[in-house]
Amino acid sequence: MRIGIIGAGQLGQMLGLAACNLGHSCCFLDPSDDPPAREIGPVIRANFDDRVALAVLADKSDVVTYEFENVPVEPLLDIADLVPIYPPPAALRHAQDRLAEKELFERLAIPLAQYRAIDSTTDLEAAVTSLGLPLVLKTRRMGYDGKGQFVLNNAEQIDEAWASLGGRDLVAEQWVPFDCEVSAIGVRNVDGESATYCLTRNEHAGGILQTSRAPVENHGLTEQAQQYIVDLLEHLDYVGVLALELFVIGDELLANEFAPRVHNSGHWTIEGCETSQFANHLLAITNQPPGPTKCRGYAGMINLIGQVPDTARHLAHGHLHDYGKTPRPGRKLGHITVVTPSETDRDRLLAEIQDSVTSSTTPRGTET
Ligand code: AMP
Repeated sequence: MRIGIIGAGQLGQMLGLAACNLGHSCCFLDPSDDPPAREIGPVIRANFDDRVALAVLADKSDVVTYEFENVPVEPLLDIADLVPIYPPPAALRHAQDRLAEKELFERLAIPLAQYRAIDSTTDLEAAVTSLGLPLVLKTRRMGYDGKGQFVLNNAEQIDEAWASLGGRDLVAEQWVPFDCEVSAIGVRNVDGESATYCLTRNEHAGGILQTSRAPVENHGLTEQAQQYIVDLLEHLDYVGVLALELFVIGDELLANEFAPRVHNSGHWTIEGCETSQFANHLLAITNQPPGPTKCRGYAGMINLIGQVPDTARHLAHGHLHDYGKTPRPGRKLGHITVVTPSETDRDRLLAEIQDSVTSSTTPRGTET
């Protein structure tokens, strides 16, 4: 089939590679001059809201998908009569607005931190009183990797928080003293057949994903998270891969956000699972049964941020994925995956690789 992919970044690149392996061809739409997916298929150079370019993409595709959640929904709906678009734009709408996303979690009885919609400093003062401190003020739209956020530790910071984020639609949420962060990934095809992956544990620094480890060997948490994923997939009549990020506190999970797309915390599935998240996304949107999601061992993934050090190119163990992007401070340029027979080996190897790559990498904020 002909797959149209909106976005030709590293997620588009890995989707494109999986599509080629499955015998499909790809066409991309992306405004960048030199996007990572450029060698996989033709790239229509245009902005994501360019209706003419989107119609050209629709004409060249049997199905259209996207690699990031800030694709404008209205222009996308204009081509919905021309070609199937998966995941459904309704899912995109929820994921683009943190308030709508939280209301959806509540409707589905998926637990989450207490929150308030914030439109004024008066709202923020009331939230400080009712939710307590610390609390996190977040922009409702266009936030990612910790951008558009302000952590309030005391009430004197209200003016500073407002100066930083005020004027946009905001939400305030309780600070979650989590033990760790995990993500659950699921997939559903057009006929409604679904599958879930094991739980992945994620470590962030400055809001940016640094490492992922899977599987999380906690049966109760895994079952719970997979149920939340299935509830979301069913409710949204979803098609494709969906990732849900959660906080773990003791034996409980609190949902943070979901992404209607393949996810950075699932990159390890390329080597670590029988079917990668990218292949499963393609299988879903072309209405094939989901491939098996069984782990091939203990997997770990390290993001390479800011540069791909030479050491990363000469690893005795580990798979380097170099996205071919121009190095810039804070930019995700690649990742390394390890898969081992034991958890101890995985953690030792990850620590060794982390040491060798971080000695020459200093992340400062992130661009995707
Ligand atoms: P987000 O953009 O919402 O995924 O936030 C980026 C990161 O900030 C998360 O992965 C957490 O590490 C941290 N974070 C976000 N919201 C909260 C919260 N309510 N409590 C504690 N940490 C948070």
